[in-house]
Parts: sequence; structure tokens; C-alpha cells
Amino acid sequence: MKDYIERTVTEIQKVISKVTCNGCGKDMTYPDPIGTEHGCVRGVSFMVAFGYGSEHDGEQVEVDLCDECVDKWLKSMVNPPPFIPYM
Ligand SMILES: [Zn+2]
Repeated sequence: MKDYIERTVTEIQKVISKVTCNGCGKDMTYPDPIGTEHGCVRGVSFMVAFGYGSEHDGEQVEVDLCDECVDKWLKSMVNPPPFIPYM
């Protein structure tokens, strides 16, 4: 059987303070409109893990793109995916 006491522990956490677009270098963060201490991000972040036989086999890359760069990227594709409403 164990008895417990309460104590206050201070720990340092890493939180994202800024996200910069890989495409144009723009800061993708903006203040939270409801005023919380955390900001919001306009854009997308995704990870790509390259598969067997590719030029980057065994490597991965994390990409952050602002909305404008995502739009430009999609429109630059030979066969761009369709935009589908989600709300
Ligand atoms: Zn951008």
C-alpha cells in the first residue's frame, strides 16, 4: 500500500510559438480570436514519409504551408483535386 502526498511540480513544456510557411516564409500564426494564450494557424501541416525505392527512401519531411501556398500548389498540379465543401 502506498500513501501519497500532494506537491506542486513545475515543468517546462515546448509549445509551438510560431509556424512559418515553407513556401513563402510568411508567419502563419495569428492571435486566437477568443483570447486564449495560444494562437491559431492559417494553413496546413503534414508529414510525408517516403517509401521504398523512392529517391528519399527512409526519409521523411514535415511541411507547413499557408493557405495561399496550398492554393497555388493545388492549382499548379496537372490534375488538381476538386474542392469539396465540408460545412
Ligand atoms: Zn506561403
